[in-house]
Amino acid sequence: MALTLTFCGGGDTVTGSNFLIEGARGKMLVDCGIEQGRDFVEKEMYAPFPYDVPSLDALVITHAHLDHIGRAPKLMREGFKGKVYVTPPTRDLMDIMLRDSARILAENARSHGIPAMYDDRDIDALMSRIETVEYHKEWIAAPGLSCIMRNTGHILGSGSVRITDEDGTGLALTGDIGATPNVYLRDAEAIDDADVMVMESVYGDRKNTEKGDRVPELRDALKRALARGGTILIPAFSLERTQLMLYEFSNLMDAGEIPRIPVYLDSPLAIKATEVYEKYAENYFRPEAVEELHHEKSLFKFPFLKETTSREASMAIWQDHGPKIIMAGAGMSHGGRIGRHEQKYLPDPTTTLMIVGYQAPGSPGRLLQDGVKHVRIDKKDVHVRATIESFSGWSAHADRDGLLDFAHMAQPRAKTIFTALGEPSSARFLAQRIHEYLGVTAIVPEKNQKWEITKVGAKRLS
Ligand SMILES: [Zn+2]
Repeated sequence: MALTLTFCGGGDTVTGSNFLIEGARGKMLVDCGIEQGRDFVEKEMYAPFPYDVPSLDALVITHAHLDHIGRAPKLMREGFKGKVYVTPPTRDLMDIMLRDSARILAENARSHGIPAMYDDRDIDALMSRIETVEYHKEWIAAPGLSCIMRNTGHILGSGSVRITDEDGTGLALTGDIGATPNVYLRDAEAIDDADVMVMESVYGDRKNTEKGDRVPELRDALKRALARGGTILIPAFSLERTQLMLYEFSNLMDAGEIPRIPVYLDSPLAIKATEVYEKYAENYFRPEAVEELHHEKSLFKFPFLKETTSREASMAIWQDHGPKIIMAGAGMSHGGRIGRHEQKYLPDPTTTLMIVGYQAPGSPGRLLQDGVKHVRIDKKDVHVRATIESFSGWSAHADRDGLLDFAHMAQPRAKTIFTALGEPSSARFLAQRIHEYLGVTAIVPEKNQKWEITKVGAKRLS
């Protein structure tokens, strides 16, 4: 039997990235995610996986965002016996991300009176199956299926995976693709050796602010916010966005472009993630950034940065009545410490809320971005009088032109390109552009569809 690909999640963004790949002799998954920005107890997430878990040989994870790893420990509860392949930074990051997720899942499950999806023991079991892989080194993940990962410049350790069967048919899954050029991560590498490619489409219909404009835009917004005299809130994902913001604040303060005000990093998770970034900087960052690191000792830490790990330290931030920046998770204001700060500061007209990342439809962050005056945050109605500033240039995702370029680089070999992992409208928009500009068959996959993958492209089986 030829190679087959089943879209088990990520086609509709409800359950996160999850792909089943079956060869003549081996079976593997790429990613096993959970969707963010929603209540974690949605039934679909708790349902058994739609495949026979004990017969899987391997799980390859593209990167440590929860929408790519969030259900992986649940595999252990369903009898997963295979190996887990990830890059070394992904291993470290997924450990901290999953333990934080387990804590939130447990809280949510308790409040709904249901058992948690998984706990720390399942995470320990999953982590014990990990074999780390480096970019560009091919390995056998499952009988008859060899894999190679390449950097995608999306977050530290992120990678695409190309799977080749014994006939030499190549299927690539991009995971998430970073916007280029990145400030300190290396740029995404092209995939030119796949017959069929599944690519992300999160920003498939959007254009990011030009990279050159985004720092002045941020600086000017910070100045406006400081003129209002109040607190600046930044809901930020712990991975990548937080580090990127720290990097830029440090540079802007060093250059005297903004006043040196306290920056509270109020997130134990982001503090730990930043440590992982520092640990791997030397080997994974671009040469210019490594040089800067040697020169400055740290890319992310600066004298006005205050890391508040403990609950007490977090609570004490409110005693600082001067202008300040508070950065905390969750990135879509759907939980975590940012909620408490938003409840306190959003009713205050001197506050500025800066939105620097993607906000999923329905999330509190998306509602705030859309300008609602009343929002429900952590079970409390909040009257919004703060100024909301939205930025599009800080996304960790390639925009519509970056994605089209990535699809272009897959030519001439890729005969079919699937656009997945985005909202349906952006997946459709990207597919249409790929078809129009590149003349390649581009398909928006639907959940649970199974496709046969051959050297001439993909053919729908069910
Ligand atoms: Zn991601």
